[in-house]
Amino acid sequence: MATNRLACRECHRINDGDAATCVSCGSSSLTEDWAGYVSIAHPEESEIATEMQVTEAGAYALKVR
Ligand SMILES: [Zn+2]
Repeated sequence: MATNRLACRECHRINDGDAATCVSCGSSSLTEDWAGYVSIAHPEESEIATEMQVTEAGAYALKVR
C-alpha cells in the first residue's frame, strides 16, 4: 500500500504522492503528515463530511498537521 500520499492542509483532500497542487481546491499546501484516511462517497448524507465541510466525494484525511 502506498504510504506517501499527500493531504491538503486547506480542504483535507488526499492527493497522489507526486501531486504539486490539490486536485480539489488547487492549494499547493500539501503534507505527508496526516492521519485517518476516510473515503466519502455521498457527502450530502455523511455526518463526517458535514463536520469536515466536504461537499465533493473523494478521499480525505481526518487529521492534517
Ligand atoms: Zn485542497
